[in-house]
Amino acid sequence: MRLLDSHCHLNMEEFAEDLELILRSAREARVERMLVAGFDEPSSGKALALAKAHPAEGVFAAVGIHPHDAKTCPPGGLPESFQDWAADPRVVAIGETGLDLHYNLSPREVQEESFRRHIALAERVRKPLVVHVRDAYDEAIGILRDEAAGRCTGVIHCFSGEWRHAAEALEMGFFLSFAGPLTFPRAAALREVAARVPEDRLLCETDSPYLAPQPYRGRRNQPAYVAAVYETLAEVRKVPLEILAGQVWRNAERLFGWGDGNV
Ligand SMILES: [Zn+2]
Ligand SMILES: [Zn+2]
Repeated sequence: MRLLDSHCHLNMEEFAEDLELILRSAREARVERMLVAGFDEPSSGKALALAKAHPAEGVFAAVGIHPHDAKTCPPGGLPESFQDWAADPRVVAIGETGLDLHYNLSPREVQEESFRRHIALAERVRKPLVVHVRDAYDEAIGILRDEAAGRCTGVIHCFSGEWRHAAEALEMGFFLSFAGPLTFPRAAALREVAARVPEDRLLCETDSPYLAPQPYRGRRNQPAYVAAVYETLAEVRKVPLEILAGQVWRNAERLFGWGDGNV
């Protein structure tokens, strides 16, 4: 059985001290693919550097600017460096990008503009999007439709919306990735949504160092803990863990095109 973490931030300061140990723990937990998502220009460069340094551990990168950091986007476009980075074979997705109207750390119009530029870049380089949405599902789906993002598709990471949002994203060809919150006792509604997603559109992630699943809640999250998300997902969908793991593996391969890892 092989597991994967479709979204983590090994490019963050939190992992600077003990990255080798974290990668070893991931391997011991059978996590053989990790997508490290950038959230601003330096962290996107770091994600690519990690992917290049750790091909044997199955590390890949996504480059993007988080909606919180959208205000760091240069006026008139994405950072120049993104054009080259996006074309690198170790970069398998564009993001994270999206809309976060919960914290509103960047003005809404700025978030929207940055989101649209990411979609254009994804379409240009023909790579999928990694989309972050918080308290903005209707708005984010509106933008994806508007920009015809069904052409590049992608993943709604750490999905936390209602079924109607899931249905709209699925209709556009998007995948839904579930994270630690799926395991939280009070997340019954989210588990119901997760049970209904077609098996060929599911992904699992940690979003580490954030959102550690039960029973690690409150600790620094890490890719090895993704196993807890798989277990909950297998339970709510009433499928054996091995079957789910195989399906998620094939889904990620289809979306990210990372094949045997030697791209
Ligand atoms: Zn996010
Ligand atoms: Zn993230």
